[in-house]
Amino acid sequence: METSATIKKIVIVGGGTAGWMTAMYMADALIKKGVEVWLLESPMVDIIGVGEGSTPPLQKFFEAMNIEEAEWMPECNATYKSGITFDNWSTKPGCESFFHTFVSMLDNFTMPQFVKNVQARVNGVDVYAHPDRFFIAHQLANRSLAPKPNHNFPFEVWYGYHFDATLLGKFLHKKAVQRGVRYKSCHVTHANLDEHGAIASIATKDGETIAADFFVDCTGFAGMLIQKTLETPYVSFKDNLFNDAAIAMPTAIGDAIPSHTVSVAMKHGWAWKIPLTNRYGNGYVYSTAFCTPEQAEQELRERLGLLDADVPARHLKMKVGRVTRHWNRNCLAVGLSQGFIEPLEATGLLFIQRTASVFVEYFEAGDMSEAAREKYNRQINDAFEGTRDFIVTHYKTSSRTDTEYWRANAANQNLSDSLKQLYEVWTSGKNLGAEVKRQGLDQYFAIVSWYSIMAGMGIFPDNPRPSGMPSDGMEQVDNLIARSLVNFRDHREVLTDIPLREPNTLKSYFF
Ligand SMILES: Cc1cc2nc3c(=O)[nH]c(=O)nc-3n(C[C@H](O)[C@H](O)[C@H](O)COP(=O)(O)OP(=O)(O)OC[C@H]3O[C@@H](n4cnc5c(N)ncnc54)[C@H](O)[C@@H]3O)c2cc1C
Repeated sequence: METSATIKKIVIVGGGTAGWMTAMYMADALIKKGVEVWLLESPMVDIIGVGEGSTPPLQKFFEAMNIEEAEWMPECNATYKSGITFDNWSTKPGCESFFHTFVSMLDNFTMPQFVKNVQARVNGVDVYAHPDRFFIAHQLANRSLAPKPNHNFPFEVWYGYHFDATLLGKFLHKKAVQRGVRYKSCHVTHANLDEHGAIASIATKDGETIAADFFVDCTGFAGMLIQKTLETPYVSFKDNLFNDAAIAMPTAIGDAIPSHTVSVAMKHGWAWKIPLTNRYGNGYVYSTAFCTPEQAEQELRERLGLLDADVPARHLKMKVGRVTRHWNRNCLAVGLSQGFIEPLEATGLLFIQRTASVFVEYFEAGDMSEAAREKYNRQINDAFEGTRDFIVTHYKTSSRTDTEYWRANAANQNLSDSLKQLYEVWTSGKNLGAEVKRQGLDQYFAIVSWYSIMAGMGIFPDNPRPSGMPSDGMEQVDNLIARSLVNFRDHREVLTDIPLREPNTLKSYFF
């Protein structure tokens, strides 16, 4: 059996967020076992430099690495994130905006009412069923409060972060080297295979050959080892998700720092607005099949009030899909090299975490056989498919028809069987949560996320009948949230004095 005991040297190629997060996981678990971990980074190829929003599990990464928020957040101009506001995705009255919450323990009290109301509304009963009033995170985001309650608040609150991607890379670089990762700045020209088709060594532009037992491809969209060298097949998601380009531009931020990402639907895609302590990061994710980069830049500049401003725009291409094998022979692909689902729900770093941390678990268990690789790849591929389908739902449920782009999304029938089944359950008024759980999709997005998107987009029958009930429970919900809000402080104020981490946070994020 192939075992990890024979692996004494690992070379990671690429020093973006994927490279350094993987290096941290490997340094933490493997260096003490005598494994040498190297990271090579090209001085000629920049990191992508976007990817500035996260989901709550990023907390777990910093906890596992024993790094306090008070240490990393100020160095990365980071802020807290309560969730995402989706503006202009739906044209249904009352649904022009909705919030996709990061859940908290307090939501356990309001969520049953939310689910009850949504199930009633989808069955044609006229009750309040828009997600925003049910979740404290939306109220925090609206008021620029930090999702960090005072110590006497008895409920955990889960949150993500916003951060400067370049500064986070520098921070992780420093930490990984302190923890024993060896670094070399060099451009890799190609890899050499052994007689079995595995990678034996890599060659650098300076004429050096670097051998290792295992390689990690973190070369970004280039996918130099996993795609180019090993020719691992690639599954494109372009028939499900049309966006293939992005533009990024910063703008100034004022005194108040909102604690949410805003995602605004545009003519040919959507624009993000991410608050950091020193600026907003903005960007437009769009499809080149429906507009030119110049048209997209013009539309973004108009939106940001930068039509005549001398602010440069960064244009990026995106490849949306995944490799079939993230762990192929003696190579693991992490980050954009393994695949990418467009950034609508900011899941890029979550995939990096999942791919690297689960691999380290396999490594520690010792089994590196073909069977282990197959099992691992199935796990990661399922995560890609499940996540993709949630993203597809944003487009499929949008009622916008103002451009060809939105009409094509509405007409798109390239849906997975899993997604068709979910929509069928929804339209027939059956229990959506039970179906999400039955399919195991709650591993990727919480049940409440599925309810929130369907309800937030207003996917309900028209002309609901009067409920005939004395109350739809909203008075108690509003009351509980209003009383809870006094336990939260201004976001910028909290960021100037970040409290130490409470032990045992994030016991369970998805439920
Ligand atoms: C528009 C957009 C928005 C995004 N938004 C989010 C978000 O909000 N949240 C989120 O979690 N994710 C987001 N992502 C994804 C996120 O940016 C990436 O997952 C993350 O930055 C990791 O990138 P990476 O390290 O894989 O690649 P990169 O940052 O591209 O790094 C590649 C590295 O490989 C090195 N390299 C390349 N070729 C060679 C070579 N030949 N030799 C040696 N080294 C080489 C480069 O020097 C670089 O260090 C977004 C992505 C895009 C495109």
